[in-house]
Amino acid sequence: MTDQTSRELFERAQQVIPGGVNSPVRAFRAVGGTPRFIASAEGPYLVDADGDRLVDLVCSWGPMILGHAHPEVLGAVTAAAGRGTSYGAPTRAEIELAELIVERTPVEQVRLVSSGTEATMSVLRLARAATGRDLVVKFAGCYHGHVDALLASAGSGVATLSGLGAEGARRAADDAALATPSSPGVPGATTAQTIVLPYNDREAVRQAFAELGDQIACLVTEAAPGNMGVVEPGVEDGEHFNAFLARVCREHGALFVSDEVMTGFRVSRSGQYGVDGVQPDLMTFGKVMGGGFPAAAFGGRAELMQLLSPVGSVYQAGTLSGNPVASAAGATTLRLLDEDVYTRLGRSADTLRSAVADAFAAAGLPHVTQSAGSMFSVFFTPADVTAVPDYATAQRQDTVAHAAFFHAMLDAGVYLPPSAYEAWFLSTAHDEQALSTVVEALPAAARAAAAAATAESH
Ligand SMILES: *Cc1c(COP(=O)(O)O)cnc(C)c1O
Repeated sequence: MTDQTSRELFERAQQVIPGGVNSPVRAFRAVGGTPRFIASAEGPYLVDADGDRLVDLVCSWGPMILGHAHPEVLGAVTAAAGRGTSYGAPTRAEIELAELIVERTPVEQVRLVSSGTEATMSVLRLARAATGRDLVVKFAGCYHGHVDALLASAGSGVATLSGLGAEGARRAADDAALATPSSPGVPGATTAQTIVLPYNDREAVRQAFAELGDQIACLVTEAAPGNMGVVEPGVEDGEHFNAFLARVCREHGALFVSDEVMTGFRVSRSGQYGVDGVQPDLMTFGKVMGGGFPAAAFGGRAELMQLLSPVGSVYQAGTLSGNPVASAAGATTLRLLDEDVYTRLGRSADTLRSAVADAFAAAGLPHVTQSAGSMFSVFFTPADVTAVPDYATAQRQDTVAHAAFFHAMLDAGVYLPPSAYEAWFLSTAHDEQALSTVVEALPAAARAAAAAATAESH
């Protein structure tokens, strides 16, 4: 394999696009080397600019659940585009997509937007307007897009003010929301409204609400975190973490916001990572529901959604919101997602998970795999780690071993997420042949990772 053309394109891209990419993780910073520029894709494969065919385990970070260039989705997109690509006026296509979401999920109404970031940003405004409160609670390691308020690690302001105490303050400060903890350009006044807590830590949640409950507008969480690797919401005394969160929010008059931009329609048909008795006040969707186009949504009880303009006074808008081509792609994708799809994805995920376990065991490489439905990830954690419940544990990964693994897989024709903090995404197009390419590549890649592993892992 050569990546000569990708190298040339990367050089050229860097002249006109910061870092040569339009979203940072595409740049291969975490694993080194030159990002592959993609020329085309079909089914489970990407073809890069040098003509190498790669099994795609990124699937555009989730959306391509039916594989690339799915004939029915393409047909719907082509037909829609032929009728004009944007009108700035309402269409039947938007209603159809909204109905499909409302049918499958607990929300009564949705508003369509163009990205997950926009969805979470709008949800915060709505939650704050609905409650007349300003504070927002999120968890370290959960990603909700690059919204200012949610890119914050708590910052000393809230930690001190909240009386979370030295331990809470230390945790809040440590618990970066992302691999890059916070960003210059986010005003302190904004981060001061955000409380960041460790995931799966009920005591921290209880304490934050005991101190500040009457000022908290909402708690936002990923339905099952997938942006620090896949982390399973814990169950304590028979109560699921999300049920606990919904209960605490209710007790304090705060809204419970479930961010399903990643999990929605990927881990199950309902879009809600199936938890009995959990009724989020507001939800966000994206990725799969856009069918590979810029489309996302937020929704909730009608009574809350009616606060949005033009009915209510909470302003929210978008020139391309509900775009007819994106809506056609999204609606066609959702219609094709029956129970059978999730059974098949689950089987493929099981195949890969056990192949990873075998290969890593044979190479003597300690690791943890975790899943939420058909979504799973591999953590390159040291031998003393048997489960990853939170971001602090996820951060104990051996990124050197991961980088060696990533490149060995890439050389063998498998395109994994270029980050140790991401799920591996599958599609219904990943057939026996595509899966066996991955399975066959694993042993040598595991050995390469074991050889590169830093001392801490052993
Ligand atoms: C991807 C993601 C977002 C952001 O969506 P964009 O479309 O990239 O803005 C928000 N929340 C979660 C859980 C995500 O996985």
